[in-house]
Amino acid sequence: MSDCFFCKIAKGDIPTNTVYEDDNFRVILDIAPANPGHCLIIPKKHSPNIYETDDDVLAKAMVLAKKMAVKVKKATGCDGVNIMQNNEEAAGQTVFHFHMHIIPRYKDDNVLSYNTKKQTDEEFAQMRQKLADL
Ligand code: 5GP
Ligand code: ZN
Repeated sequence: MSDCFFCKIAKGDIPTNTVYEDDNFRVILDIAPANPGHCLIIPKKHSPNIYETDDDVLAKAMVLAKKMAVKVKKATGCDGVNIMQNNEEAAGQTVFHFHMHIIPRYKDDNVLSYNTKKQTDEEFAQMRQKLADL
């Protein structure tokens, strides 16, 4: 995708703080980190979201996520790490080239949180059935 910003970043056409690169991925420091050391794993092959990303790219991305999580933990001394990946605007995606966030976390930092919903046993049962049947 010639007009995709992350394609240009992944290819190295736009300078970034690259912390890792191989044939398939570039890993950069997020320009607006949730905490210092927040990295983005960006595949060099364009796909807009997880639904349209090849399984082999996803498999490699997860192995790389582990490698980067270990590096981020060592480099920052953080207490934990979130692996986050947003799909579509409603889920918070702002750049429509598949990527994964590696976010260092500290006890009580409150940088990521969500409100939980109450579900009845009947609602759980209906949802379980719906998902299991697809
Ligand atoms: P999304 O919201 O799509 O999951 O994540 C996009 C991420 O890309 C955001 O965390 C945002 O800060 C980061 N980002 C957007 N533009 C740039 C940029 O030009 N350079 C870097 N390093 N990160 C960027
Ligand atoms: Zn792209």
